[in-house]
Amino acid sequence: MTAERASPQTIAIAGAGLIGLSCAFELTERGHDVTLFDPNPAETSTGWAAAGMIAPAYELMLQAGPVDTAFAAFCFESAKLWSGFAQSIKRHTGIPVALSNAPTLALARHADEQTHLHALADVLDELGHRSRRISATTLQNQYGLSPAVESGLQLPDDTHVDNRRVISALRWFFVGQGKVVSAAVETRSKMEELAGQRFDAVIWARGTAETGSEAQVKGQAISLSPVQGQPSTVLRFGARYIVPKADRTIIGATSEPDFANKGVDPAVADMLHEEAARVLPQLAQANRLEHWAGFRPLGTAERPLIGRKAAGEFIATAHYRNGVLLAPATAKLIADQVEGLTYESAYDAFAPAPGSGATA
Ligand SMILES: Cc1cc2nc3c(=O)[nH]c(=O)nc-3n(C[C@H](O)[C@H](O)[C@H](O)COP(=O)(O)OP(=O)(O)OC[C@H]3O[C@@H](n4cnc5c(N)ncnc54)[C@H](O)[C@@H]3O)c2cc1C
Repeated sequence: MTAERASPQTIAIAGAGLIGLSCAFELTERGHDVTLFDPNPAETSTGWAAAGMIAPAYELMLQAGPVDTAFAAFCFESAKLWSGFAQSIKRHTGIPVALSNAPTLALARHADEQTHLHALADVLDELGHRSRRISATTLQNQYGLSPAVESGLQLPDDTHVDNRRVISALRWFFVGQGKVVSAAVETRSKMEELAGQRFDAVIWARGTAETGSEAQVKGQAISLSPVQGQPSTVLRFGARYIVPKADRTIIGATSEPDFANKGVDPAVADMLHEEAARVLPQLAQANRLEHWAGFRPLGTAERPLIGRKAAGEFIATAHYRNGVLLAPATAKLIADQVEGLTYESAYDAFAPAPGSGATA
């Protein structure tokens, strides 16, 4: 890795989750010396709980309120960056992260969902993005979907990656270089004391524990053993999805803003499995492999919080449902700002208010 643009800096990142690791990778590629701090194994992070969808188009339908154009532009930009990001990870770690280019299928099971899909197609058209209607007959004959599915919309911008491979590859890369300190950190001085060095810049990326992540939204998901002949594309219907990976099929997810505990509920696993099998009947016989809960970091107006919060202090959090999708663009935006480069002013929309945040 070589420095191309700015003189090398020493940088500390609090949080070696998906976002902290992605920022670390981008900065290391640009020639900076990065140290990550995290007390926990990767398996406990929200990124590990994710389904790996890169879904700028379907996300437009799930966002509350009118279309947030700055956010939508950021999502589509990040989706485009994924190909280069995945190649770069493979080049530097030797680990392929299984980025798929199969377009997602958004499905309608009843009239209400058909209306939503039509509205999504119109919004995508207005924003200059593609979609293609798919008939029920094609969905049944070509994809093996049940007659309960009335129509579909193919979304060529929406794909998926194996998020666990991304996290494992990046953690392995930084641990191998002795660049991960296993400790919880709350202050810059603590990081400097632990590392025995001063840092030019500090990035706060502790997910739900970060200042600016205002709430946590619990999500339960399950995985099933893959079934021969099932479609290799992501299927989305309402708030649910079926995401095929090489070694598992992920079925998700609940969205629980108010939850009594952090555990999993067996009735939810049954509900997710049954709902998925009503769309793709072959899944009814699939063995259940895992059932887990993750906690999405939610910020204001469902927007991420990314940017400079004080001299030499940056923040990257509140990625809510879209940490996987937004990892490459977040890393680029943070790295540009750390280097003092100009960046797309539309992304001021995600910047922390001056003086905000208590992290010292
Ligand atoms: C069920 C589910 C499905 C999802 N599916 C998708 C999807 O398909 N596509 C998508 O784009 N997004 C998805 N998401 C959202 C995505 O997982 C999150 O947006 C993303 O993981 C946030 O990344 P992060 O790095 O900010 O947080 P995390 O991944 O949680 O990482 C934060 C890290 O900070 C560390 N940390 C905490 N406290 C400290 C401390 N004091 N000091 C140092 N380190 C600390 C933690 O140990 C952790 O490793 C999903 C989420 C859930 C729950």
